[in-house]
Amino acid sequence: MHTVFLGLSTNLGDKLQNLNSALTKLSEFAEIIDLSSIYLTEPVGFKDQDDFLNAVVKIQTKVSHTDLLERIKLIEKEMGRVKIIKDGPRTIDLDILYYQDLFFDSKNLTIPHPRLHLRNFVLTPLNEIAKEHIHPLLKLSSQQMLQNLENPDKVEFYATFN
Ligand code: AMP
Repeated sequence: MHTVFLGLSTNLGDKLQNLNSALTKLSEFAEIIDLSSIYLTEPVGFKDQDDFLNAVVKIQTKVSHTDLLERIKLIEKEMGRVKIIKDGPRTIDLDILYYQDLFFDSKNLTIPHPRLHLRNFVLTPLNEIAKEHIHPLLKLSSQQMLQNLENPDKVEFYATFN
């Protein structure tokens, strides 16, 4: 079994429903070990779009990192994600943040996620469920990465999962 942290992000349609649907689909091949709260966050990059809901989930799965990418892309596709604008609106975006303590870098997949340490909307939920977890490349905990953010994007508590 492999322990993995995934970031979830949505800003189109019924956002709470989107998060729950993504978790249901993930649970077909992964055991959900822990869930952060849900956070309301301002768009980063392309600003002229609705606010996002973000969360982080800890899972255990037998699926390899490359297969996991294929499976999360399929979930995004099934849930109707249409990518028109970079960093633009999406029904669901799933990112592999950590996969065990693996370093991996290919054209399609980089682990740990290359921007996780820069994003308050990832670090705040990650810190909630994995405060002491050490980033295997940066050798910093979630809490330390959060404290290192210079201009944190706006993130506020929204709800917990039922
Ligand atoms: P985005 O629009 O930010 O969701 O980027 C999607 C693309 O990023 C996918 O097509 C993946 O091939 C690529 N990618 C690279 N590293 C990762 C990662 N750690 N998790 C998810 N997608 C990744």
